[in-house]
Amino acid sequence: MFPMKLIVQKFGGTSVADTSALKIVAERIIDRKKQGYEVVVVPSAMGSSTDELIDLANELSAKPTPREMDMLLSAGERITMSLLSMHLNSLGHSSFSLTGSQAGIITTSRHGKAEIEEISGERVREGIERGDIVIVAGFQGFNRDTREITTLGRGGSDATAVALAAALGAEKCEIFTDVEGVFTADPRIIDSAKLIDEITYDEMLEMSSSGAGVLMARSVEFGRRYNVPIIVKSTFANNKGTIVKEKIMEEAIVSGVTHNDKEVKFTLFGVPDQPGIAGTVFGSLSEIGTNVDMIVQNVSKESITDISFTAPSEQQKDVEDTLKNISKKLDAKGYDVDENIARISIIGAGMKSESGVASKMFKTLGDNKINISMISTSPIRVSCVISSSDIERALNVLHEEFITK
Ligand code: ASP
Ligand code: MG
Repeated sequence: MFPMKLIVQKFGGTSVADTSALKIVAERIIDRKKQGYEVVVVPSAMGSSTDELIDLANELSAKPTPREMDMLLSAGERITMSLLSMHLNSLGHSSFSLTGSQAGIITTSRHGKAEIEEISGERVREGIERGDIVIVAGFQGFNRDTREITTLGRGGSDATAVALAAALGAEKCEIFTDVEGVFTADPRIIDSAKLIDEITYDEMLEMSSSGAGVLMARSVEFGRRYNVPIIVKSTFANNKGTIVKEKIMEEAIVSGVTHNDKEVKFTLFGVPDQPGIAGTVFGSLSEIGTNVDMIVQNVSKESITDISFTAPSEQQKDVEDTLKNISKKLDAKGYDVDENIARISIIGAGMKSESGVASKMFKTLGDNKINISMISTSPIRVSCVISSSDIERALNVLHEEFITK
């Protein structure tokens, strides 16, 4: 049925917060239609309505049933998609909306954290062929074995959009948000943060995984795997934005400084230092879907050791439950949670060929009396866990040292 020019446009929560915002969104869609594109639209839930639904659930249940949580949260995107579609129809642009399951977005079965496995997309393709604007609810899918509705985790509409762009062979995926693109640091904290014009998938993946909130990490993985250019831009400014792609003109040594204060540090004390222990600990954590990040095992004394790791704050309760069990099973001395930590990272593709970047980061933090409690690195990233009270200062001094200078 192709060749045709096809684009996927995703609109985040603030871009669809109310009916006046939806009118601007419709303009962005119609602009592309007028340029000769077929358009598939992926909206998020309106404003902070996902948070509000979560609050409602928590008022009624300490541990809401995961299946019902997905039934509830998937409703958020349905509200946006139907309103947007009626508006487009009233403007004379033929449009219809589909839930994730109607669009054939097939996922794994884990409620609240499902992963897209396949997109059949029959009804989406039929709509495109008719020239309709097809609106697909973000953040949700369907599992064939359980026959249940699933959601993809917070920010999951990004993953829906990029995966759809890949499956449909779209030219690119535009991610519309309330900021002008990807910045060298969080512009709400760092005044001198600069908009990044171009960035590689690898760098963007590291930025998303280490705290940059603009793009969900999994969406970047899809982009990289299927080579879909992703453009992050503002709905309201309709600017050029940031393009995320395979190769860029100039690889900076450090492209950005990110931070994440939504993680906590766990320490399991007095664990026997024997083969298989780490496997038991992290095996149990992975069974409950924990996104364990940094791991440090201390030097052991008399065959007893401590293991520390970080995980997202939202998983704290579940992780603690698991640690209680493991602690008993392994005859460990107990565990401890430190909520007052944050992670600061520098990211840059040019680091691969430049030595001394990590030591410069440690020295800058040290010169500013900021203590480092954990370190992890990848070929293009260095991350340090520090006290959350130091995070703003750390951001400032590192941004000054690596970006502004
Ligand atoms: N509405 C969901 C959330 O707030 C998904 C998304 O916005 O991408 O996390
Ligand atoms: Mg949202």
